[in-house]
Amino acid sequence: MEFDTFAERGEAIAAEPGALDTVALVADALTAAGGATPASGGDTEGAGPAADDDLAIVARFLRGAVFPGWDGRTLSVGPSLCHAALARAAGANVTAGDIEDRLAETGEIGAVAAGLDLGGQTGLGAFAGGDATGGAGDDDLTVRDVYDELVAVAEATGDGSESFREDALFGLFTRAGPVEAKYLARLVLGEMRIGVGSGTLRDATAAAFLGASVTTPTEERDDDDDRTGELVALVERALQVTNDHGRVARIARDEGESGLREVSLSVGRPVRSMLAQAGTVADALDAWDAVAVETKYDGARVQIHYEDRVDDEEGEDGATPADPADGPVSIYSRNMEDVTAALPELVEHVREHATAPAILDGEAVAVDDDGEPLPFQEILRRFRRKHDVDRMREEVRVELRAFDCLHAGGDDLLDAPLTGRHERLSAVLGEGVSELRVSDDAEEIEAFEAAALAAGHEGVMLKRPESTYDPGNRGREWLKRKPDVETLDLVVTGAEWGEGRRAELFGTFEVSVRVDDGDGERDADESVDSGAAYATVGNVATGITDEELADLTERLEPHVRAESGQSVTVAPEVVFEVGYEEIQTSPTYESGHALRFPRFLAVREDKAPEAADSLARVRRLASDE
Ligand code: AMP
Repeated sequence: MEFDTFAERGEAIAAEPGALDTVALVADALTAAGGATPASGGDTEGAGPAADDDLAIVARFLRGAVFPGWDGRTLSVGPSLCHAALARAAGANVTAGDIEDRLAETGEIGAVAAGLDLGGQTGLGAFAGGDATGGAGDDDLTVRDVYDELVAVAEATGDGSESFREDALFGLFTRAGPVEAKYLARLVLGEMRIGVGSGTLRDATAAAFLGASVTTPTEERDDDDDRTGELVALVERALQVTNDHGRVARIARDEGESGLREVSLSVGRPVRSMLAQAGTVADALDAWDAVAVETKYDGARVQIHYEDRVDDEEGEDGATPADPADGPVSIYSRNMEDVTAALPELVEHVREHATAPAILDGEAVAVDDDGEPLPFQEILRRFRRKHDVDRMREEVRVELRAFDCLHAGGDDLLDAPLTGRHERLSAVLGEGVSELRVSDDAEEIEAFEAAALAAGHEGVMLKRPESTYDPGNRGREWLKRKPDVETLDLVVTGAEWGEGRRAELFGTFEVSVRVDDGDGERDADESVDSGAAYATVGNVATGITDEELADLTERLEPHVRAESGQSVTVAPEVVFEVGYEEIQTSPTYESGHALRFPRFLAVREDKAPEAADSLARVRRLASDE
């Protein structure tokens, strides 16, 4: 695919306000990128064998990524390098400083790049019959040219790599027309800004290659009896397992549903970590019959891949392996960064106590000489360290607390229940396994928590015993209970429309406490309008996904009472569970208090506004602080 075609499609996608039409446009782009004759089977790993097959590349580019999520390679191109390359391509009269000035004006590198006359190509292109988007005549840039060049940029190391990177970008920019330059600059800086999230790409993949319909929004489908829901779920699953939009698109196209069904984890390639929401013991016991409770360690998340040995020669570091099945150990952070070199004792631990092949999930914790946990700051001195690892190892000891197992002995375990995965964990790892206690007794859970706190840990995790491992998901199956974090259940009383692409959605929500303190008496306080039932305590804009914003907008819009500019007031209908760091006194809000760093945690579907937290409680919490 020509890069200017990609750029034009990017423009069309960005300009499309409707979610369904966006999916259709992305599906078209994927189909167009696949070439006229799809390759059958073949290499689904890399960029692809056929010269006209740019599907994997285009699928990643649409999300602003050059490499798959599991791939540790990065471009190592920061804004200043990009600005320098752009300035050079724009000619002697433009400096990197000018680029920064223009960036300050427009706020967006793509717009800056599109406004430059790069390498004189615009003029030449016009003479050569090029259109507004194209570069010069026959020097047409393809997505593969861009990809190959960016691979070289990512792989450049050592002396001179910085100037190599700048030269490579300069070379690309001089070949780009205005719209190409816009998308090139955005791609290089990893900010595509065309509104294609993982969900859009997933739906588009299902539509382009599996025949899923794009006429119903994903949220409105009933997955049980809807074929499209089934296909979308299949693509989603393959994405979770492979972490690679490009590869999944190729498998969907070349091998269809059966190919996607067979996708399995690869030991050595990181998977996104399952995440937790805040919650209480009562939440857990209300929702589930029993709760699996574990210590919440105050360390750094690690995902450990222990590969089977493929040959029986020396180990990868030249040492003879202790066990013939002893392959490489790789350790990844929660962001899938390779941190193996920083944590040699965990590598040794796994070699000594684990059976390959396995993928383990756990926490790296800093401990003192007695094995007691040290504060979080201590693990940070070790994690990601590239130099002086051996010296630091003397100062800060790191141990593994493994709590999950995603793969063992050739079996993918993502769909196994937590308790089953934990049994496999204990079977493959002889030491360093975190205790998991299943209980339906609140007192027993609280006693477990008290013991964890007394031992210096952060708190406990509450997990549904039957829960499957859902990579990357921050769902209600895992709850983190930190005893010192209070949450408030607050009534939404207003909202503000978002901006740009989100202009159709509410972006910020005004939240309020009940003025009535629950005993039927209004709180007598002059600072609060005595007639009002609710008093504001803050505005919540963080912690809300696009999907949740759309849902909340739909729910709240019918309850809008008044509108003024961007702001609306809404009737009290919806209760948010809101987390925060502290409560301050404040003249800004009607309650006289303001939440610092309020963040959305969940909609309390089970609570009516009358059951939201009261002003009296906020005052109590504020005075306790
Ligand atoms: P937070 O960082 O506050 O969102 O809490 C979630 C994090 O707690 C996870 O990403 C893990 O790094 C960490 N954690 C500590 N102990 C556990 C455990 N037993 N199960 C799951 N996560 C844990």
